[in-house]
Amino acid sequence: MSSRSYRSGSSGTAVGPGLLLILLLASAFAVLAPWRSLGSESQRSWGYAGPGGPEQWADLDPKFAACRSGKRQSPVDLRWTAPASGKGPVFRYKPSRFRVIDTGHAVQVNFDAGNTFLLDEKIYRLEQLHFHTASEHALSGARLPLEVHLVHRSEIDGIAVVAVLFREGSAMGPLNRVLSGIPEEKGEEADWGAILDPSVFLPEKRTYYRYEGSLTTPPCTEGVAWSVFNTPLELSAEQLARLRRAYAGNARPLQALHGRRPANY
Ligand SMILES: [Zn+2]
Repeated sequence: MSSRSYRSGSSGTAVGPGLLLILLLASAFAVLAPWRSLGSESQRSWGYAGPGGPEQWADLDPKFAACRSGKRQSPVDLRWTAPASGKGPVFRYKPSRFRVIDTGHAVQVNFDAGNTFLLDEKIYRLEQLHFHTASEHALSGARLPLEVHLVHRSEIDGIAVVAVLFREGSAMGPLNRVLSGIPEEKGEEADWGAILDPSVFLPEKRTYYRYEGSLTTPPCTEGVAWSVFNTPLELSAEQLARLRRAYAGNARPLQALHGRRPANY
């Protein structure tokens, strides 16, 4: 919006409506622009260390209050107990087109629609998966080098996240398809029409912990149904190094259970 527009607009009556439009646009920009920059500023300002680190998330935005005051927060330390009985989750995943995005907080893989997850007779659809280095959850006090979150949503029942932890070992072949597509810049998306079956990220042994928690990033929203597999998968040192080159340390500290008892299935 240049001052030249105003001058040319004010030079004749014929451009009256044009001037009006320009003035309207100018006021819209004046009103909207500060909000937009504030909005993206607060999105950008949280991180995992220093100012804006996990201890300060709640101070950055009133919408992030649950990050401090919440009593059902994630991640948590998960310890083995006698297995509970119950029907396990059902994964209906299939080879799907995907895109790799660097969100500014994690490397994320967005899938085309069509993958669903059935938990307690509720149907959730898979939206995306993303990587945390190191793991956010701990298994009997131990954090591993990597955790993958498969994020599912249901319009009625909210969010259900499936977590899979990884230790260093053999290379995981299908992961290379994602790694080779990590964008160079934050906020960029890479889409080259590639196909991946999200079930390659699920361990064969389907034993897992379940508990009710939260998003592990601001706004730390609660009411998230967590299923955390207790059998880690493996990735190679090179694969881990590639993920760490994008993000090293994007893991929230462990949160108190506040009386919750994660069940073992
Ligand atoms: Zn996550």
